[in-house]
Amino acid sequence: MRQTFYLMLCYNSIGIKILHRYFGIEGDMMPKKILLVEDEKHIARFVELELQHEGYEVKTAFDGREGLALATSENFDVLLLDVMLPSINGIEICRRIRTQSQVPIILLTARDAVMDRVAGLDAGADDYIVKPFAIEELLARIRTILRRVTPEQTSSESLCLRDIEIDVAAYEVFVQGNKLDLTKTEYDLLKLLIEHKNRVCTREHILTSVWGYDTDIETNVVDVYIRHLRTKLPGAMNDYIETVRGVGYVMRE
Ligand code: CA
Repeated sequence: MRQTFYLMLCYNSIGIKILHRYFGIEGDMMPKKILLVEDEKHIARFVELELQHEGYEVKTAFDGREGLALATSENFDVLLLDVMLPSINGIEICRRIRTQSQVPIILLTARDAVMDRVAGLDAGADDYIVKPFAIEELLARIRTILRRVTPEQTSSESLCLRDIEIDVAAYEVFVQGNKLDLTKTEYDLLKLLIEHKNRVCTREHILTSVWGYDTDIETNVVDVYIRHLRTKLPGAMNDYIETVRGVGYVMRE
């Protein structure tokens, strides 16, 4: 019965994937990173494979403590938290994460657990999906939530942070209306930080996003380029890029 259910999910998702591939629904954005915390290993594996197939980068944890540790030590674009988990439940993880991060959270809840859903939303979850779910529905929820939290990346032609404005279509940066002369790498780096404004970008994340996945460049190259960028930002603006010691960089509004 369970096997049939998952086979059905696989079959249904193939058509959706083909649509995505051919119509470019996923666009040309860098891969989004998802944390999945799910103790039922066969479900975790299945969801992980489907997400990877969709082009997401996925990390999986099988219990609450491990999930919370990952969620607070790395940057993710979306967290998928099962509610019933060993050691720390999904709602408690959500509550703790919300004290320090606004990362989008989708809870995976049991069919009859209405109180879990209410408690989860009260704890700061953005959405929930009831198990067993069709994988297409989960993928649609993820896309929706990503559109909602990063509208600049999908629908806007310009990105702004304080008095910096990026004209994405023209690859140009303006500071207080004056054009800033940046190299392609400096531009990509600034764009990444502004796309992720108020969220810390780790050096590794910056490296893979700006220099690519097969790079063998040292992580200190990131520090060098951040220094270049700071010197190019006029006057008091060179402290717009904050260093998070031992982790990476953040630009805040
Ligand atoms: Ca569970």
